[in-house]
Amino acid sequence: MSTYICEKCGCIDNTACGGNYWLVKGKLNLFKDEYSNTHCLCVECTPTEFSDGSKNKDAGKWHNRFPKKHWSELGKEHILRLSSKQSGNYVNAEEYFKNLEDKE
Ligand SMILES: [Zn+2]
Repeated sequence: MSTYICEKCGCIDNTACGGNYWLVKGKLNLFKDEYSNTHCLCVECTPTEFSDGSKNKDAGKWHNRFPKKHWSELGKEHILRLSSKQSGNYVNAEEYFKNLEDKE
């Protein structure tokens, strides 16, 4: 069980809670749009339908297993400090903040 930052909305989700994290890491290309196949999304940002037309029933809404929090509520320093410990916390944080800087 690991946490990651949603590349679309910036909230923290858990890889076991229905988001597309493992589908992206496994390069499974199950979604219609390229963005969702190549970016880690929280469960709420994950498309509700797969490219074959079948329903992704956990997606499109927050799971409420823990409160939805944007990374800025925790702070970049805090997140990067914990993510560097290889503990499964914020596993894509370094990449996420690097991409964010590149966009600015
Ligand atoms: Zn999201």
